[in-house]
Amino acid sequence: MSITKEQVFEQGKQQTLWAGHLIAADNLSTATIDNYTPINNTLIGQIASGTSEDVDIAVRVARDSFENGEWRHLAPAERKAIMQRWCVLMLEHSEELAALDCIDAGKPITECLNTDIPATIETFEWYAETADKVFGKVAPTGSAALGLIVQEPIGVVGAVLPWNFPAQMYAWKVAPALIMGNSVIVKPAELTSLSAYRLTELAYEAGVPKEALQMVCGLGENVGAALGRHMDVDMVSFTGSTEVGRLFLQYASESNLKEIVLECGGKSPQVVFDDAILDEAAINNILTAAFWNMSENCSCGSRLIVHSSQKESLLSQLKKGLKAWKVGSPYESDTAIGPMIEKTHFEKVCHYLKTAKDEGATLIVGGSIREDLGSGWYIEPTIFDNVSADMTLFKEEVFGPLLAITSFETEDEAIKLANETNYGLAASFYTQNIKRAYRVASSIKAGTVSINGFSEGDITTPFGGYKQSGFGGRDNGLEALAQYTQTKTIWVVN
Ligand code: NAD
Repeated sequence: MSITKEQVFEQGKQQTLWAGHLIAADNLSTATIDNYTPINNTLIGQIASGTSEDVDIAVRVARDSFENGEWRHLAPAERKAIMQRWCVLMLEHSEELAALDCIDAGKPITECLNTDIPATIETFEWYAETADKVFGKVAPTGSAALGLIVQEPIGVVGAVLPWNFPAQMYAWKVAPALIMGNSVIVKPAELTSLSAYRLTELAYEAGVPKEALQMVCGLGENVGAALGRHMDVDMVSFTGSTEVGRLFLQYASESNLKEIVLECGGKSPQVVFDDAILDEAAINNILTAAFWNMSENCSCGSRLIVHSSQKESLLSQLKKGLKAWKVGSPYESDTAIGPMIEKTHFEKVCHYLKTAKDEGATLIVGGSIREDLGSGWYIEPTIFDNVSADMTLFKEEVFGPLLAITSFETEDEAIKLANETNYGLAASFYTQNIKRAYRVASSIKAGTVSINGFSEGDITTPFGGYKQSGFGGRDNGLEALAQYTQTKTIWVVN
């Protein structure tokens, strides 16, 4: 039965929101972790706190299911039909799912209703369609043999998720992994497990076998590490910090050399050239790149690299544009900026705020903590000018609403500054010159480059990072399917 967002928020007040293990077996651990909302730092319920034994059980179930073929041997069109039924259920429950992400992650409800959940459903719809439209190949062997090149599901897949887009990141991993016929074990972020739990329950209602899609809740160092180190997990698809991403490579090398795909952090540049048209749309795009989702966004355009001739006008327009970005309770429909996800993260962002000042950056707008609001973890969108390439704010991923402005004189200098980072997830730049557009797009080392706007692409286009932003594959597009399959050659001798 679908419920309204008000009912979800009421359940939060009653402290009854719950996300537990969805493992098709008995004898699971029973420990729980209290779950607080960042909106006002009050208890809203509990999540299960999984152990490595829970992971062992889930992997055994997933392996048996994969070998039995109850999911992978279904006709692709049948897997498609089940996923499409799941999408219908998601649509019916979209208000509930949006409210769960809102209360769990402190994301503005309007964003959850209009962006996160529709994009989640779109992802499942899109991958459902791929089930019976991806073909293998026949090799040009000549008449001596028939060489078939086929893609097979990889087996038992662990999907380890971050907290910033809980439902959407679930979709980015689960939809392609499942449609290819794998047995999937989801490990949501401990801070945001609620929507993953409901999405998985809806999957069962739609007909996905409980053994083919399971979920183990709990802490990263317990559940995430157990998946990473497990000898019978065939691959882990991870989205999260670069720091934890590195651990997964270590886990794999110390266990069974499982495949690892990493989607990690970023410090993305936005470049404004001297010929850029800075109209309202461009200003909105620049602000969205910088501050959307409280800047808790891997592709956040946190470095604004601007030609000196444009700087003054740009700064005054950004200041004007920011007035529309209301900082407030995520429950209110006109709120654009909610709280930071948790106290520790809030303190980290405050530290970056102080460091930027200490290192000599010039505060242009914002910089205040809104202690009057809910949890007190609300930070105004903040812009610093005169940020040089050696400053911390230019180099490190803040994951909070601090935008660094750096000016340049020549195109070469702009490209050098844009690439002066360990990351390479996304970039955007503004110019009217088509030759420059192509030149710069080719020179920037990032997985997604947008021209005259901010974008992460859409479900049809691959998303992932160069350098320390990613490893081993891409999310989205048909490219994502490669993560979840292995290539086999079948050689038939004539
Ligand atoms: P995180 O690395 O702290 O956690 C991600 C996941 O890893 C969580 O499920 C967590 O429980 C688990 N984990 C934590 N410690 C672990 C350990 N020791 N062993 C195994 N698993 C462990 O990341 P986060 O704070 O949830 O998310 C923010 C980060 O995610 C940012 O760096 C952001 O840029 C990145 N991100 C990247 C993308 C992308 O597509 N590239 C998308 C969203 C977020």
